[in-house]
Amino acid sequence: MVNGNQGNSMKDSQAVKADILLVDDTPENLRLLGAALSKKGYKVRSVINGSMALMGAQAAPPDLILLDICMPGMNGYEVCEKLKANGKTADIPIIFISALDEVLDKVKAFGAGGVDYVTKPFQFEEVIARIENQLTIRRLQASLEALNGALEARVKERTLELEAEILERKKAQEKLLYLAMHDPLTHLPNRTLLMEELVKALEDCREREDYGFAVMFLDCDRFKRVNDSLGHTIGDKLLIEVANRLQSCLRSEDMLSRLGGDEFAILFTSVQDANWVLDIAAQLNHKLLTPFQIDEYEVYINASIGIVFNCDRLYQQLPFPIQGKIAYDNPDHLLRDADTAMYRAKEAGKGHYQIFNPQMHNQALKMLHLENSLRRALERDEFILYYQPIVSLKRGKIIGFEALLRWYHPQRGFISPSEFIPAAEETGFIVPIGEWVLKSACQQVKQWHDQEIGEHPLTISVNLSVRQFGQPDLIPNIDQILQTTQLDSRSLKLEITESVIIEHPEAVMAIFDELKSRWIKLSLDDFGTGYSSLSYLHRFPMDTLKIDRSFVQQIDEGGKNLEIVQAIVSLGHNLGMEVIAEGIETPQQLAHLRDLGCDYGQGYLFSKPVDAKASETLLKRDLRW
Ligand code: C2E
Ligand code: MG
Ligand code: MG
Repeated sequence: MVNGNQGNSMKDSQAVKADILLVDDTPENLRLLGAALSKKGYKVRSVINGSMALMGAQAAPPDLILLDICMPGMNGYEVCEKLKANGKTADIPIIFISALDEVLDKVKAFGAGGVDYVTKPFQFEEVIARIENQLTIRRLQASLEALNGALEARVKERTLELEAEILERKKAQEKLLYLAMHDPLTHLPNRTLLMEELVKALEDCREREDYGFAVMFLDCDRFKRVNDSLGHTIGDKLLIEVANRLQSCLRSEDMLSRLGGDEFAILFTSVQDANWVLDIAAQLNHKLLTPFQIDEYEVYINASIGIVFNCDRLYQQLPFPIQGKIAYDNPDHLLRDADTAMYRAKEAGKGHYQIFNPQMHNQALKMLHLENSLRRALERDEFILYYQPIVSLKRGKIIGFEALLRWYHPQRGFISPSEFIPAAEETGFIVPIGEWVLKSACQQVKQWHDQEIGEHPLTISVNLSVRQFGQPDLIPNIDQILQTTQLDSRSLKLEITESVIIEHPEAVMAIFDELKSRWIKLSLDDFGTGYSSLSYLHRFPMDTLKIDRSFVQQIDEGGKNLEIVQAIVSLGHNLGMEVIAEGIETPQQLAHLRDLGCDYGQGYLFSKPVDAKASETLLKRDLRW
């Protein structure tokens, strides 16, 4: 190793001649040698004994030492050994000088650390040549060491760089993996990670037959409304808060994951007691009861929860028995069944939980099957419209019809709307079906108008589902149908139920205004069975109230229903509406309704709903009641 001082002096020696320390107890020798070296340009220091040599070398290490062997006190070998033993002076090349009459022990000289020797009397040229040799060796050694040092430093630096690179790459990989497995909003595990964990849980089951676990599917009720009304930023904050609250009810080993939107799933591993999971479900619902404070808004939300257990053992622990054997080997099925149970919970009312049972799956399959059949029915023209006459009670004549949908199934024959309309509404299929109904009904009545059959202008009442009312293109669709069928819009009456007003309170008024501006009439169907909130009745431009047939059918059984019907008739009239009674089956009912001043009637007494041809016959017979 080259120490700092020596490194510098060596560098200098390339520019200036080297620094040489002469050690000899004979002053004459010192003088002669010193003069010769100085003449050659060397910087020369002279000392006369060993201890001075040690001191001088220690204070300012020379580039080379010429060292006499025979000196009083410390001899040259001892001085040399001391210099070699000291780190600061160890590397200084030492050339021994010995007089001819002295016995030169060459082996001892090299053994003590000398690099060369000269014997007195000497020729100056030889001494200088030996000095130059040693200095050159020293210089080369020093530059080799410097090079080695630089190389070592470079290797070290590169190793550090590579280590940093590897670390960075590892970090990037970890980050990618994290992103692939987590939801960026809540930082919870996502569906992919959940699926992996479900696969592991199922493997555990295969290894240990009694291993139990549970999956919860959780959907936030009313979340969409928060998002729509307060915006996505609030919606996002709410989801994070919901995730935090849910997490606070769970053990560290339970895995809460976000599946997307307002849907979460929880995997409970190592479940001993199924009832414990039910307790957690109740706790989760309870935890969500307290309103959330999101910025300046107080937001209420709750969740519907579906629960599925992996094995019969856990189902057997429940307080109520579940029919059917349950076993899973597919993680998708676990999640599907938890989802199905969640939908059941939603149907039961918001903020509930439901445990999956196999019947639910069958029902879900049935629904799926029905949806497919409905799609095919529309494609294959299996729908037919029937028409039921509406009679003016004052004049006893047919003034219009209500269009009622029928499904003629190739295997099952006629299927009543009460069987398939709820499913069509749930799946959204009611929208294309409803459009078909409206178009067919308008076409039919326009044809009767053109043929001048029946009283003019014959009206057509078409039922409109809640789902259709929520469609943004409802009005353009109606315009389009009126345009293509060329039906006078004043002959069209739309029948809606109170649920339309309840479910679309914001949109309803604007749509009503649009309809009114086209002279399309509005009828409130099944009046009396819904919420019947009298407070809203006067605010909406309804033309007709349709008394539900449950009131009409008991009208002659006692005074109570008669009074209710009477109240509805006068309510309608007071609000400037006409009143229709549905489900008139007997002449007595008809008589009562006439007495009460009800405007129109509809029911089996006049005619059941019949196909277009039979309706035409009814019109042509010009019946009177
Ligand atoms: P709604 O609109 O209240 O239709 C009246 C229902 O009462 C019809 O049943 C009709 O056949 C029945 N009805 C009429 N008079 C009598 C009677 O004297 N006695 C008895 N017992 N029943 C009578 P339907 O055709 O089975 O329709 C049931 C419901 O299905 C309808 O109730 C309506 O809500 C819905 N619906 C029918 N067609 C359509 C449609 O094209 N679109 C939509 N969205 N819903 C429809
Ligand atoms: Mg109706
Ligand atoms: Mg009705």
